[in-house]
Amino acid sequence: MTQFGKPISLIHNFTTKSGKAITLGTGTGTKWQWLKKGRPEDEQHTLHQDLVDQLVLALENGYNHIDTAEVYTTHPEVAAAVKQSGIKREDVFITTKYNPGFRTFVAASKSPTEFIDIALKELQTDYVDLFLIHSPFFGEVISHGQTIESAWKELIDAKKSGKVREIGVSNFAVPHIEKAIKVSESKEYQPKVNQIEFHPYLQNQTKDILKFAKENDILIEAYGPLTPLFRIKKDGKEVDDHPLKPVLAKLSEKYGKTDSQILLRYTLQKGILPITTSSKVERIRQSLDIYNFEISKEDVEEIESVGASYPFRGFFDEEFKDF
Ligand code: NDP
Repeated sequence: MTQFGKPISLIHNFTTKSGKAITLGTGTGTKWQWLKKGRPEDEQHTLHQDLVDQLVLALENGYNHIDTAEVYTTHPEVAAAVKQSGIKREDVFITTKYNPGFRTFVAASKSPTEFIDIALKELQTDYVDLFLIHSPFFGEVISHGQTIESAWKELIDAKKSGKVREIGVSNFAVPHIEKAIKVSESKEYQPKVNQIEFHPYLQNQTKDILKFAKENDILIEAYGPLTPLFRIKKDGKEVDDHPLKPVLAKLSEKYGKTDSQILLRYTLQKGILPITTSSKVERIRQSLDIYNFEISKEDVEEIESVGASYPFRGFFDEEFKDF
């Protein structure tokens, strides 16, 4: 990855097993997940060919990084897409996430250890590149007695066994990460990634999370990076005219890029790795075509100050009201 020939300053330069720098992630959640339907093996899982096709399109157009999770139940589609694309497994970076349960939904797996073996089978691979805990919202009943600390120790074991290359978390606030760090034997076994909601209208999912990540060598991955383009709601109603709209239009014109390219490039310039998705080949190509321009410091500041004037959280509103 280059920024006018220079490496983008990602804190960790993650690579595929074969040594290729990873691209933005292409997601298989949000519009794709079939939450609560159970595991594919519990019911005759019919491949969702539209998702397979979209992933193949992304791989063929240069993505080498796929984001999946237990709760999305999209492992079979990821496996099928990698196979269909003809790209070698070691040239693709696959992330999956253990779900510790959510609200009243009991975790499908008893533990991360149980989950990773199922994930490897469903993904038809013998290793996962990045293994995350999907959220910090453990509960005594829903998480089968697991806690952040016990789950993190199992992620460490998964890394030691070679079943996963890197370990991290998602949606963790500072106090949650501190719990994981406390039971890590050394820096090598501390969280390397925190995948969180990030866009100009939510520049810190939780208090000081970006600052803490920087100080602790944790790469932030952004989900929902394109939120300002289509997801904004106020009082339950979709909002089309929000303050970033004219700013994005102005910057699109200035840099000769689309508004989504401006948002993705802004995310990268913050040292954050976007996880995005599109079913449209043109948008897939555009999302990777963000390395040949740079948004000026003043324009980044404008995006940030206008964004900060209109806070919007698309995910986990209830859970984060005290963070
Ligand atoms: P984005 O914010 O990037 O949104 C992707 C959506 O944007 C797609 O549905 C796409 O639709 C649309 N889109 C793409 N380009 C444009 C454009 N130029 N104008 C308007 N719309 C556009 O990402 P998501 O929020 O969907 O999340 C990406 C991934 O992140 C998920 O799939 C999942 O893997 C992960 N995630 C993780 C979470 C977690 O808790 N860890 C939570 C949520 C997501 P179209 O197909 O029409 O182009």
